[in-house]
Formats: sequence, C-alpha cells, structure tokens
Amino acid sequence: MQDQDYSAYKGVWVLGEVRDGEIHPVSYELLAWGRGLADKLSVDLSIVIIGTDIKDKLGELIARGADKVYVIDHPVLEYFQVDPYAAILTALIQEYKPEILIASATTMGRTIMPIMAVKIGAGLTADCTGLDIDPDERLLIQTRPAVGGNIMATIKTPVLRPQMSTVRPRSKRPLPIDSSRKGEIINKEFRPELLSSRVKRLSFIKEEMGGAPLQDAEYIVAFGKGLKDAKQVELVKELAEIFEGSLGASRSATDLGWISYSHQVGLSGKTVSPRLYIAIGISGAVQHLAGMSSAETIVAINSDPEADIFGVADYGIVGDLFEVVPLIIKKLKERAKDIK
Ligand SMILES: Cc1cc2nc3c(=O)[nH]c(=O)nc-3n(C[C@H](O)[C@H](O)[C@H](O)COP(=O)(O)OP(=O)(O)OC[C@H]3O[C@@H](n4cnc5c(N)ncnc54)[C@H](O)[C@@H]3O)c2cc1C
Repeated sequence: MQDQDYSAYKGVWVLGEVRDGEIHPVSYELLAWGRGLADKLSVDLSIVIIGTDIKDKLGELIARGADKVYVIDHPVLEYFQVDPYAAILTALIQEYKPEILIASATTMGRTIMPIMAVKIGAGLTADCTGLDIDPDERLLIQTRPAVGGNIMATIKTPVLRPQMSTVRPRSKRPLPIDSSRKGEIINKEFRPELLSSRVKRLSFIKEEMGGAPLQDAEYIVAFGKGLKDAKQVELVKELAEIFEGSLGASRSATDLGWISYSHQVGLSGKTVSPRLYIAIGISGAVQHLAGMSSAETIVAINSDPEADIFGVADYGIVGDLFEVVPLIIKKLKERAKDIK
C-alpha cells in the first residue's frame, strides 16, 4: 500500500454548501482554507456546488479563490440528501481524482464525508481546526483536538486518496472578494437515476434560536452550571436581549437540559468568534475554551477567582452572578434611557 503511485491524483477540492437556494458562507471559508493549500502545492483549487437554480450565484466563488467551479444544478437537488450527493461525489472523484477533498464540519459535511470515506475507501480526519501542507512530502497536515481537547493531534494520510477532512466552520475567515480573478465554471450533468434518493424530505422545522445562529452572532451571552437552575436562564436572556445577542451555554448547562444542544459552545458544540462573549458561571474547561477563545472580547463573571475562564478573559468580574448580572442589566438599561 505504501508504494502505491498516487501521481494521478491532483488538485485541492472543497465541497461547497447551498442552503435555502443561496451559497452558504462556509463555502467561502472552505475556499480560504483550500486556496492556501493549493498555492503551497501549486495546483488548482476546485469547488463542488450542488443545488437547484444556483447557476447565477456562482461569481463570488471565483472572486474568493476558486479556479474551477463544478456545478450540479437540478430540480431534485434543492436540499441536501445523502444518496444523490454520495453518487455525484463518487463519480466526480473517480473522474477527476483530487488529491485533497475538504468539507465543512457542518451537519452536511459531518454526514456525507464519512459515507464518502467508506464508499471510495479513503481516510477521513473529522472536525479539524487547522490544515497545512507538509513541504517535503506534499501531504495534508490535519490538526484537530484529541483526548477530550487536552492535546492537538496532527494527522497525515500517506496512503489512500483523496486525503479527506472536515474543518470546523468559522475556523478561517473568507478571502476578500477579488473581482479580477479568473476561473472556470463547469456544468456537470448526471443521469436522473443517479440523483434518486431513498429518503424523502416531508418538511423542515427550523429551531427557534432567539437571536442569530450562534456561529453568526456578534454578541453572545453564555452561561454555565453556575446558573444553578433552569429558571435563571431568563436572567441571562434579559442580558442577551439588551445586546440583541444570542444565547450560548456550556455542555454542563445543555446536559442539564436548561437549553437545547444547539446553543452549546465548545469542542463538542459550536465554534464561535463573536465581537463580544460574556461567560457567566462558566469555569472555562479546555473543551469550552476550544469553541470561544477566538472571540474578539471576552468578559467572564465567576465567583471563583481561580476559575480558568479568567485565563482567556479580557475583562474578569469576580463575584456572585446573581448580584453582578442584575447590576449590569440595570446599568445598561439606565444608559439606554439616557441615550434616548
Ligand atoms: C470529550 C469532551 C467534550 C466536551 N465538550 C464540551 C463542549 O463542547 N462545551 C463545554 O462547555 N464543555 C464540554 N465538555 C465538558 C467540560 O469538560 C466541562 O465539564 C464543562 O465545560 C463545565 O461546564 P461549566 O463551566 O458550566 O460547569 P462547571 O465546571 O461546574 O463550572 C461552573 C462555574 O460556575 C461558577 N459559579 C458557581 N456559582 C456561581 C455564582 N453564583 N456566580 C458566579 N459564578 C458561579 C463556579 O465557580 C464554576 O467556575 C466536554 C468534555 C469532554 C470530556
């Protein structure tokens, strides 16, 4: 296996995402990752876009780093479905033989990439926070937290192709738009039977988050076990509403059922990078920090002066949250009144 010739495999590919008929921003983040890798390897960067009526929405993909855009536009591809996506990707990989294929660690990426790994017999490193190229071996270096987030593992895939990873959403900023970039759009057509699915989507129920989805939120007020009781969520919610922000939570808080899992920040939850992150009654376990330490400004409120959260906080308030949070709310409301 070690001596196998992989020279036929060339190019970096990323799997774009279409949601509600629009190119989703994770596609641009993936292009930023892919561009860096493709430049180091001196190869093309390609993106696969699967959807319905998307042909006039592709310009930004080239302006943000793609050399080639492979488009599969068909009425049955309006939503992500495992069967047609797997069939399309398998056919494309067999035809074009990319050396690297990266998807976002979103629900879609986390679903389709393991299936692809099995289908084409390749490896997969899930949930990476960093990607690079080994200059000597020209192999993909995949970095991800391991052992409960206590160490960062660096993983290479010397055998089997493509080298496949999912990378955490928000782990890279999209490249700025460069309208002078030139690229190629390649429309691919597939036999209708290849696009059929064993699963039928009957309806879609959006979860009511309150505020922007966590990954997109500029202001996040997050709480942990220090809140003591589900009823106290209202207190934190009031603060979040003043900032027009979103609610985040530690795993302890979601495990206790105080708020749904979609609000969990951290290693096994969401990665966020808001302008302001207020951590209330959160100890700052390494697994929580993995999801929020890139926030622009971190404010921590904790009664324990030794709490690890203060290690990453720009501003720390040592005190009882049940005294501190109502005070902050009061002050902010007064200030809002003064401004009016
Ligand atoms: C594989 C793995 C994955 C994990 N993934 C995640 C993840 O994605 N996200 C995550 O958050 N955790 C994750 N964890 C769990 C993590 O290790 C911690 O257990 C968790 O983050 C602790 O949550 P917490 O800070 O709310 O609770 P605690 O650690 O119990 O901290 C509560 C804090 O509240 C403070 N406090 C108590 N009362 C008050 C008060 N009245 N006023 C002010 N402060 C007060 C305490 O001083 C304490 O610091 C993971 C663990 C593992 C092993």
